[in-house]
Amino acid sequence: MLCVKAPAKINLTLDVLHKRPDGYHEVEMIMTTVDLADRVGLELRQDGEIFIHSSNNFVPDDQRNLAYQAAKLLKDRFNVNSGVSISIDKQIPVAAGLAGGSSDAAATLKGLNELWSLGLSLDELAELGAEIGSDVSFCVYGGTAIARGRGEKIEHIAAPPSSWVILAKPTIGVSTAAVYGGLNLDDVKHPDTARMVEAIKTNDYAKMCGTLGNVLESVTLDMHPEVSSIKEQMKRFGADGVLMSGSGPTVFALVQTEARTTRIVNGLKGFCDEVYAVRLLGDR
Ligand code: ATP
Repeated sequence: MLCVKAPAKINLTLDVLHKRPDGYHEVEMIMTTVDLADRVGLELRQDGEIFIHSSNNFVPDDQRNLAYQAAKLLKDRFNVNSGVSISIDKQIPVAAGLAGGSSDAAATLKGLNELWSLGLSLDELAELGAEIGSDVSFCVYGGTAIARGRGEKIEHIAAPPSSWVILAKPTIGVSTAAVYGGLNLDDVKHPDTARMVEAIKTNDYAKMCGTLGNVLESVTLDMHPEVSSIKEQMKRFGADGVLMSGSGPTVFALVQTEARTTRIVNGLKGFCDEVYAVRLLGDR
């Protein structure tokens, strides 16, 4: 069995520039990987079938799974006779704004490229990934990047300053479509993407923390005030920067010391059941 790691991502910035004629939003966001990862196991099948199983009951075990869609896309596009059994050991919270499904799809593309000997480049895999979902291209590369377009146009940048990341996912589910639907672009505070790029380039941790911004945050916070309480709690216990990732509801805090990390994790007890202390990975 081939085992591929599928790391989660967070958004250091997320901006929506405008709504496009094709209905998609034109975005500009800085994404970076963290060391919380699913494990995607791939086993060759001679019968040509694609089977999928996940360790998490909230993840579909059929063609709705993005990893299944990745396998199907490669099989159909390159006329592959073999099949595959995909098993997903789910560690990334589901529907959380951490790109778990997209990362599983990206890991499946990379793994099957080997298992089925397709000889595709990372750029080719990223381009195929965009057909599955906007975040899949980024997940194919990992590391740190500015994503534009629908999220599929990737410009690689340096890794951010090293940091602890405390991820806290409230139990509520958030619909990405509803959050985008609630966005009023005439009345939002856009993040300063260029300043964040500068902070990363100069390895300026304080500037990075001061420049975190997500245009979707106020929409989700208005819908779910409990997300605000988690942010407040993180700040109270000493976070250097706090932001919602993607369309939420996961909120993350950045801190530099393990002691402060422990304090924040303990401070969240009773507020939030799903809390993870991880590190920024940032490098490809
Ligand atoms: P993004 O940050 O890219 O918007 P997300 O972290 O908000 O993604 P996911 O965890 O990818 O959201 O899941 C969103 C939905 O996609 C889930 O409700 C689930 O039904 C479906 N899904 C399909 N495949 C997967 C997968 N492999 N893992 C998790 N969810 C999946």
